[in-house]
Amino acid sequence: MKDANASLSQLDVMRQRFDAAQVELAELKEERVTKLRALSNFIGQLSLACKGQNLELDNKLAKLRANLTDVERLDEILPELVDIEKILKRQYSHVMSMLEQGRSGLAKFSRQLQRVENVPDKLRKEINYFKQDVTKPFHSVWDYIPKVEQLMGFYEQTLTLCFESQAPLNYLPKYRQLAHELAQIIAEIDFTKAQRDQVLVIKEQLANEIDVEALLECYQTILSMLLENIAKEKSASQEFLFALNEALMSVRDSIDESLNQAQRSQQLKNQLNTDINHQVNNVESGLADVDDVELLKTQVVDQLNVLRASLTRKEALEQREITLLKKSVEHLRNEISELSSETSSYKEKLFEQQKLNLLDSLTQLPNRAALDERMEQEYRHYQRNRNPLWVAVADIDHFKSINDNFGHSTGDKTLQVIAMALKNSLRDTEFVARYGGEEFVMLIPDVSLNDIGHLLNRVREKIKNIPFKFKNQRITVTLSIGAAKLIDGEHILETFERADAALYKAKHENRDRVIID
Ligand code: GH3
Ligand code: MG
Ligand code: MG
Repeated sequence: MKDANASLSQLDVMRQRFDAAQVELAELKEERVTKLRALSNFIGQLSLACKGQNLELDNKLAKLRANLTDVERLDEILPELVDIEKILKRQYSHVMSMLEQGRSGLAKFSRQLQRVENVPDKLRKEINYFKQDVTKPFHSVWDYIPKVEQLMGFYEQTLTLCFESQAPLNYLPKYRQLAHELAQIIAEIDFTKAQRDQVLVIKEQLANEIDVEALLECYQTILSMLLENIAKEKSASQEFLFALNEALMSVRDSIDESLNQAQRSQQLKNQLNTDINHQVNNVESGLADVDDVELLKTQVVDQLNVLRASLTRKEALEQREITLLKKSVEHLRNEISELSSETSSYKEKLFEQQKLNLLDSLTQLPNRAALDERMEQEYRHYQRNRNPLWVAVADIDHFKSINDNFGHSTGDKTLQVIAMALKNSLRDTEFVARYGGEEFVMLIPDVSLNDIGHLLNRVREKIKNIPFKFKNQRITVTLSIGAAKLIDGEHILETFERADAALYKAKHENRDRVIID
């Protein structure tokens, strides 16, 4: 009886547990369905956002949306998803190549527009900045559309000018465009002191009316100056290599000589050791045979004299060896110090050259090539130690209006002042480069999420407080900054893109602010 009762109560407990498990299962099922529904809705909305790019994709997505309404049929759509993923990948690379085409189209049209006669200098300069700007790749259509609008603005201004002046729309001859481009190229190159006067004359010629022949001559002169610089660079490195070669040969000779000397000395020493051993043996055998003490004495003295002479020769030999060794070491030391001074002067030259290649000529900040190099370096560093690394992109607000209101040379000076202020507001371990136009990129290591906002806002405030005065007018120049922190599994270029997107947000939220992604 007692046993039967116990079994019943055990059964009861199990039933209760079973009921509870069933309730839990039902809840889980419901939760799963709710989550799947939310996910399906999300995928449905996302697919609607993709609509209109590709007919095949649209059809697949419409089918997917229909299937998504029934949660029970989710398993059926998995193969469809694989197909859609493939089309999406293809579509992405298609969009990127279209963007690239669009970018080069914009560059081509802007080049053409620069050839329109009577375009005022100011507009021509703006088009030129635009042309430089569209050398950077577009990441999305949102980069592309504002550029198209900008180019249309340039066309509109050009047409308005033509209508107003009632002058026919003529293209400048191609060679005039080339003259303009040569002027821009030489503004970017650092010529030697001796060449600068000649370059000034060429700049003057290019700025004025120039005919084809004179232009060809300018191209030819610039080309020969560049060739001359390359040749100089080449002969400097050749000279260095010759000197290096000679020094190495002399070092090798000196080592050979020392080795030969050492071998000869060793042979002589061996001979002397044999002699000495022999003499000692002689003394021993001599002593054994002689009974007369006087005779013995003279024989010992004789033998000792012979031995002393041998030892003196050995000593002299060792002394000579030491002197030769000293001389040889002295010679090597001289050669090596000469070599090291040549190497450091060559290194200095190379360093100067490298610095010139990596500096932006207007602001003297590191240029884009230097930024690429530093980004790679910081990225490698991050992969080793995982210390925080921030990428920040800063862009001057409404900079175009400074050019428009006060002229391009004031614009240039403003860029120089801001560049210096940016550099001075960072620590030595931090880095700032001119990315292009009025954009700067900062790389900031070892700063926490809490501190980065303060740091960048301090930089922003510093720029805002620079007392610019143009035409007796107090002007405040502001910066918008976007920043992102490098995260695990991400390439630093992706971090850069997130920082750029944050800058875009800052521009849309009224500018003069820092946005951290
Ligand atoms: P936003 O606040 O949206 O950044 O407006 P913005 O006017 O600063 O930007 P936008 O991209 O419309 O124009 C950038 C201008 O920067 C175009 C050009 O006038 C000027 N610019 C670019 N490079 C140089 C340069 O080397 N010197 C000068 N003086 N101006 C430059
Ligand atoms: Mg700007
Ligand atoms: Mg800009």
